[in-house]
Amino acid sequence: MRLSDTLTGSVVELPPPSAGEIGMYFCGPTVYARAHIGNARPYLVGSWYARWLRLRGYSVKLVHNITDVDDKIFVAAPGRSGERADRATAWYLDDVGRFGLDEVDEFPRVTAMIEPIKDFIAELLEREFAYAVGGDVYFRVSRSPEYGVLSGQRPEQVEEQEPNPRKEDPRDFALWKASKPEEDRSWDSLWGKGRPGWHIECSAMAEKLLGPAFEIHGGGRDIVFPHHENELAQSRARGHDFARIWMHNGMLRFTGEKMSKSVGNVETIMDVLDEWGREAVLLFFLTAHWRSPIDFSAERMASALARADGLRESFRNPSQPAPEGSWERFKESLDDDFSTPEALALMHEWRDHELLRRALDVFGLASLAEEQEAPAEVEELARRRQEARVARDFVESDRLRAEIEAAGWEVRDEADAYRLVPKA
Ligand SMILES: [Zn+2]
Repeated sequence: MRLSDTLTGSVVELPPPSAGEIGMYFCGPTVYARAHIGNARPYLVGSWYARWLRLRGYSVKLVHNITDVDDKIFVAAPGRSGERADRATAWYLDDVGRFGLDEVDEFPRVTAMIEPIKDFIAELLEREFAYAVGGDVYFRVSRSPEYGVLSGQRPEQVEEQEPNPRKEDPRDFALWKASKPEEDRSWDSLWGKGRPGWHIECSAMAEKLLGPAFEIHGGGRDIVFPHHENELAQSRARGHDFARIWMHNGMLRFTGEKMSKSVGNVETIMDVLDEWGREAVLLFFLTAHWRSPIDFSAERMASALARADGLRESFRNPSQPAPEGSWERFKESLDDDFSTPEALALMHEWRDHELLRRALDVFGLASLAEEQEAPAEVEELARRRQEARVARDFVESDRLRAEIEAAGWEVRDEADAYRLVPKA
């Protein structure tokens, strides 16, 4: 079982299943609006990989956090940030729930983890890896000789984060932020009223739920710096190993650009699922290797929809045994850095129903193997059309065919019978 790792810049080997539980922590969204489709990628990559490891005999614990206190939420809902965060958390859970994967064991929220976060900060202060100034607490980057190891920056050339004249060093970053008048949510601490910084929450929640050392930390490539660099520095400052393997997925691009709300390309997970259906969305994400960028467009989605139909079509034709060793090849493609495009290419070659159903289930796509039944009114239209055909009333039979198609179904004539299949 091999996986590309950002920290070592190489492909590393996972321990065998007998070595114990695999802890996985995948950074989740900041909840202030309906999540955009780019947010689905780390969720899916983490869920699929956890599912594959479980199928391969591993015991896995997958944690996916929810950032429910943040500047973006204060800005989005002044005076009602808690309410907005709760609502947007429910939206996110509904949206990702529609993928039907259900592999995440815990979705911790920052606001429910304030105590462990404060304890973490207190320990960093005690070890002089942090300092308090004017109600804020900052991490002292100069105390971390390794700083920059994950993102590949030289410690003396790290770019400035969160400019603020109170900091000892422009590279330092906030662990705790003093409450501002326009912010409606804060917690008491030894350093005054305030709230945690973004980076400390993930170090604290990952360690609380997975322990001081765990196997895999994931998230989008865009958060390697500063977010993950800072998480690593905080946990190492405590003397903990923290994550061993760093699994960063490539970004979702929209017309060639990184997709984010700031450039105005808003396509939410909900809208994309409503428009294309879960199977096409899952297949779309499987077409790219998790490390590579993936381009989102109507053309790419239409081609994913055609793939779904092609796979469904395989089950309407007689099963034919796949060549010897087919499953082994499929397994090898996923064991080796989780290459879903390779696995998918194999699946498109197979005509063996049992094998194909087993492979589809790995990605939550077993529904493609199920014959869909037409609603009663469509069945009725098809029956009347068949009568018209037998009576050689082709005008009526064409009219009924059009009506059936308008309802989203297609009639396929076969000898003396017909079959209804959902329209692609
Ligand atoms: Zn995080």
